[in-house]
Amino acid sequence: MQHANCIFCRIVRGEIASRTVYEDQEVLAFHDINPLAPVHFLIIPKGHIASMMDLEDGHRDLFGKIMVLAPKLAREQGAKDGFRLIVNTGRVGRQEVGHVHLRIIGGGAPLGSMLPRPRS
Ligand code: AMP
Ligand code: ZN
Repeated sequence: MQHANCIFCRIVRGEIASRTVYEDQEVLAFHDINPLAPVHFLIIPKGHIASMMDLEDGHRDLFGKIMVLAPKLAREQGAKDGFRLIVNTGRVGRQEVGHVHLRIIGGGAPLGSMLPRPRS
């Protein structure tokens, strides 16, 4: 299923340009338009799934595959010493694009801490 106005569905359909990292029948990986580190790309299912909140048992194989792809592609892109995988989800997770996406960020110096920690 595709959504007419979803920006990532439009990337899947080739209506909006992107720089492909990996593609097969069910999955697309492409470089983030606003990279925060030397390696910064997104992995998405080609079919429209709004967020991780919408995952069901039927998505196990697809998301198992995506999780195994993530480190493989990260290494190939140059994140040899690790990376951060971010999946912003819903309003509280501050998800901005409503098509589920895994963000892989790395390839440079260790990243800053993600959430501020209270001083003890
Ligand atoms: P989020 O805030 O988790 O929804 O993240 C959305 C991510 O998608 C951000 O890192 C954006 O830089 C990235 N992004 C938005 N539009 C595009 C686009 N057209 N091509 C590539 N990355 C994009
Ligand atoms: Zn979509």
